[in-house]
Amino acid sequence: MDLSFSAAEEAFRADLRAWLRANLPAGWGGDEEPPAHATLATEVAFLRAWQGELARAGWVGIHWPQQYGGRGASVVENYIFQEEMAAARAPEIINRIGVNLVGPTLIAHGTEEQKRRFLPAILPAEELWCQLFSEPGAGSDLTALRTRATRRGDGWVVSGQKVWTSYAQFARWGILLARTDPDAPKAKGISYFVCDMQAPGVTVRPLRQMTGSEEFNEVFLDEVFVPRAHLVGVEHQGWAIANTTLTHERGTAPRQLVIHRMLLQDLLRLARAGVDGGAPRARDPVVRQELARHFIDVEITRLNSWRTLTRLLRQQPLGAEASFVKLFWSEMSQRMHDTLMALLGARGLCWQPGPRAVAGGRLVRSYLYYRSASLFAGTSEIQRNILAERVLGLPRSR
Ligand SMILES: Cc1cc2nc3c(=O)[nH]c(=O)nc-3n(C[C@H](O)[C@H](O)[C@H](O)COP(=O)(O)OP(=O)(O)OC[C@H]3O[C@@H](n4cnc5c(N)ncnc54)[C@H](O)[C@@H]3O)c2cc1C
Repeated sequence: MDLSFSAAEEAFRADLRAWLRANLPAGWGGDEEPPAHATLATEVAFLRAWQGELARAGWVGIHWPQQYGGRGASVVENYIFQEEMAAARAPEIINRIGVNLVGPTLIAHGTEEQKRRFLPAILPAEELWCQLFSEPGAGSDLTALRTRATRRGDGWVVSGQKVWTSYAQFARWGILLARTDPDAPKAKGISYFVCDMQAPGVTVRPLRQMTGSEEFNEVFLDEVFVPRAHLVGVEHQGWAIANTTLTHERGTAPRQLVIHRMLLQDLLRLARAGVDGGAPRARDPVVRQELARHFIDVEITRLNSWRTLTRLLRQQPLGAEASFVKLFWSEMSQRMHDTLMALLGARGLCWQPGPRAVAGGRLVRSYLYYRSASLFAGTSEIQRNILAERVLGLPRSR
């Protein structure tokens, strides 16, 4: 495994660093907390404008092929990109589902017409996307999905309910899984569509989370017409295409590594400085043991990410290793956030901006949000099942 970066990769890093230094939005990038937004809608509007600027400078979808507006960047450059964005404390892009999941899926399986219609508006966030996969009775086992698409005229009529659909209330389009052949075995009768979120029959109902935000939604589909031109790939064979999307979701991106490296810095700062006028905890032997463990865990995550990068560079499949990486970082995340709450003490109750909140409540909201780390992109139990069966060779649990 080569642990160094090439001269070209270092030049790429320097270019990006210089661009970020010159172009970060006001109030971002320093030690102070970035400006807060009054509502999720104003935050989304701000992030769309920021993504537009990044895109115009060629910094969005860098891993996409050049013919579709990307840079054809390698996985290593993509890694460097994430690292520099985090190091600069830059805002994240908003159309992550579009850029990371929809783009690569349409590039691999879409028609020329679909690529021409949908891809250009993804990078500058002119059109946001959501992922209409999970249902109330189909999460871990997505093949149990019950949303039905029935042939009508030159297309399908879709009815059913989706849930946990991030940013659906802002999305122009959604990638949708629906059952087109109810008599076929579970995974065989599913098709993959592009759903117009403004079509008659689509109702989006936000769900309030314990962070106070409403990123998630329930989406009700009531006889929604989907034209033939919006079928991706072949009818009834959508499951294979869904797997392209899910592989990208399970994480080839090192986003979580950089987020948790920054969290470690926050923990060290809080331990050294103390909270709420209290004594610094950096000499507390239990806190020191925990911080040392988190440092080791983050380093293990870094080495695992690099191992993944190496496999991708060699064009080897990720296999069950992807489950190991996901399981490890998500459990690390929850341990780190537990230490965070121990350091914050009573201030851990202040999760909204206000005079008593530490870092404007950002850290407590991070604790609340990352309770979900062991759920999204495959729960910890599902990752353990995969490891038990495919790595340890144990019999299937069911
Ligand atoms: C932050 C976040 C964002 C999300 N965004 C989206 C989105 O944009 N679009 C979308 O479609 N979905 C989204 N999801 C949904 C996500 O994919 C599901 O939550 C996930 O797949 C788990 O499904 P579920 O919630 O239905 O839980 P279930 O599948 O109902 O699982 C419930 C519990 O049973 C356990 N379990 C289930 N099956 C087994 C088994 N075979 N063996 C052992 N234990 C088992 C699980 O581990 C879990 O603890 C999001 C979720 C989160 C948390």
